[in-house]
Amino acid sequence: MNARNRALLTSVAAASVLTLGGLAWLARDLLATASTEGRNPSLLDLLEEVRQSPPSKGAPRLAPKPPSPLTWSSPIASSSASQVCSQVDPELRQRLWQEQQSLSSQIRRIPTDPSNYGERFRRDVYDNPIDPTPRVIVLHETVYGLDSAINTFITPHANDDDQVSYHTLIGLRGQIVQVVDPVKRAFGTGNSAFNGVWVVTNPKVGGSINNFALHLSLETPMDGENQASAHSGYTTAQYDAMALVLADWMQRFKIPATNITAHRHVDLGGDRSDPRSFDWNVLKLRLLVLEGSC
Ligand SMILES: [Zn+2]
Repeated sequence: MNARNRALLTSVAAASVLTLGGLAWLARDLLATASTEGRNPSLLDLLEEVRQSPPSKGAPRLAPKPPSPLTWSSPIASSSASQVCSQVDPELRQRLWQEQQSLSSQIRRIPTDPSNYGERFRRDVYDNPIDPTPRVIVLHETVYGLDSAINTFITPHANDDDQVSYHTLIGLRGQIVQVVDPVKRAFGTGNSAFNGVWVVTNPKVGGSINNFALHLSLETPMDGENQASAHSGYTTAQYDAMALVLADWMQRFKIPATNITAHRHVDLGGDRSDPRSFDWNVLKLRLLVLEGSC
């Protein structure tokens, strides 16, 4: 064993004692590859390796395709702008335009633990190049309160099964909380596909849309803290704040409104039904106002 490997073992052992006891086995396997890169792996490197195997040598292998596209078409595309715009209240228009001017000052950022998000990958596990640009937006709900969700995201999770995050949370009073910067990769969905597209960056999970998705989650109302199929729905303040964030993402990453979907429509595990009691027309109206179509 050379000096570099000894130093590496020491740092990995210290890290394991502190927070990642369960990863000690992994460090053994990673030492050989990490030492050839001329630097010691950080804890983050180790976690990234948990999520993505090192690229294979030789020719890229064919990535598997997702199952046939789920039968879903965007509710946002289902009626014409003129039909929807007739419902716009001038007060709503005024309010949204005003809030749009001060959006950046309304965003609260929290110290999300780095174990709960990562970088967007540029290659899949089969060594094929993949486009990390965000191009689909997935809506969720928290089921429990905002503080409970925030607490989950700022807590370190060594086990990758426990790592979870959204890019943004919207509280019942319209609070906007940025959990993960949109350029980073949030862990919002597991096995998932959008319109017949997924990428495999972690063979344990299978295909997922996380690498090219943005995730926004709505705080669930009190009467929805259960497994019932519906609840009383989201507040006007939530729809306003959500529309402001979505309009900003759509403009920044050139995402069409028809690429806004919901967890229940992209989940391939069959056990996600969020967001429940969501009114697509209320969102559509606001997006049309914010893009200047109403
Ligand atoms: Zn969800």
